[in-house]
Amino acid sequence: MERSFESWEKEVIRCIRCGACQNVCPVFKELQAESTVARGRVKLIRGVINQDLELTEGFINKMSLCLMCKACVVNCPSGVKVDKLVEAVRKEIVERKGLSPLKKFIFRLVLRNRWVFNTGMRMGSLFQGLVFRKGPNGQGMLPRMSLGIDKRRLLSPLAPTPFKLMYPEVNKVPEVKMRVAFFTGCMINYIYTDTGQAVVNVLKRNGVEVVIPALQNCCGTPVRINGDYETAKEMARANIDVFLKEEVDAVVVACGTCGLSLKEEYAELLEDDPIYAEKAKQLGTMIKDFTELVVSLEGFEDKMGRLPIKVTYHDPCHLLRGLKVKEQPRQIISSIPGLVFKEMNKPDTCCGSGGSFSLYHYELSTYINDHKVNTVNETGAEVLVTGCSACRMHIADGLNRQGVPVKVMHTAQLLEMAYEAQERTRGNLMKV
Ligand code: SF4
Ligand code: SF4
Repeated sequence: MERSFESWEKEVIRCIRCGACQNVCPVFKELQAESTVARGRVKLIRGVINQDLELTEGFINKMSLCLMCKACVVNCPSGVKVDKLVEAVRKEIVERKGLSPLKKFIFRLVLRNRWVFNTGMRMGSLFQGLVFRKGPNGQGMLPRMSLGIDKRRLLSPLAPTPFKLMYPEVNKVPEVKMRVAFFTGCMINYIYTDTGQAVVNVLKRNGVEVVIPALQNCCGTPVRINGDYETAKEMARANIDVFLKEEVDAVVVACGTCGLSLKEEYAELLEDDPIYAEKAKQLGTMIKDFTELVVSLEGFEDKMGRLPIKVTYHDPCHLLRGLKVKEQPRQIISSIPGLVFKEMNKPDTCCGSGGSFSLYHYELSTYINDHKVNTVNETGAEVLVTGCSACRMHIADGLNRQGVPVKVMHTAQLLEMAYEAQERTRGNLMKV
């Protein structure tokens, strides 16, 4: 039986109202309003469960003011899963009030339908110049008109060719040590194709054959966290079928949010499904973040050349607090010869992206982001490395706003640069 909204009362009553969540919530830090911290949200949700409160517009807006960053969850002495509570109440809102026409269009027509999504993105990449203009220094792009997005928001352009069309479905290597399937996620497929290329190139150099299933789709996280569970379940089942069909040792992801979705959220979403409950668990056991996979490969450090640059690292919330990946990216970065790694102050603080949060609440997301940009700037690093495309875009936007000339890239790209540095050195020596 699917969990009823009322059954969440068991979670709600675990809150002992200690206030520990106040110290870690990025939204509370900016707004200083009890309704925006975990304790306040829990109280409001309890009011709805007990039928003391209605799902008013004010309540709905308060529930949208959560980054789902899990900072409160890991710091809560009672282990209250506040992000799950917020998600449950958003689902209840959709069930009682329905989705807005825009969300219905995006979730049910575009994201659910691979052909429509692909076609839309291809058209978007051709005509994006009409509605966006180049950002400062030719970096990114800014909306020419409102479009429901703040006109100051620096976005990365859609790639001319989606990543999945740049590579064959099976990327062979001469001596296969391992065979993996790559779940690209939407941002790598349509925007940050450079990250996808780095993932494939690095794995191939380490003897890993990479399969990129053409029929994979969006992981469904934006749909699920906005409460549209029926569509999210359909998307989960489709991805499970696609990936379980592949004969691979692991499924690699290069985004903490997609990874957490495939590793844990699918199993929770489909726990009552007689056919897919077990399949979702099976897929979950196969999921590996790119950095987890790389550090498990023997001799991955041997191919690195010197990179005399100063680098810092930002922990994406879902990669760190969801997939518990913390040391692996640092191990990769610190292994690169000539590189200086400087840890920033509080690298685990949310950058303020929160997926669609930064589109709906741009002003607030920039205040949160400003703290991240300041801590990046304090390190004196030339490059900020991270493991999530949404963080990459949001931090690049913040750096641009504050005029801080730091390049942002994925860990895979940094590692590819190190491998290329060794290949260049070897090439030059051969010429001598
Ligand atoms: S830290 Fe946990 S128990 Fe304490 S007030 Fe926040 S949600 Fe409640
Ligand atoms: S998930 Fe993050 S933004 Fe939401 S209440 Fe918890 S700490 Fe605050």
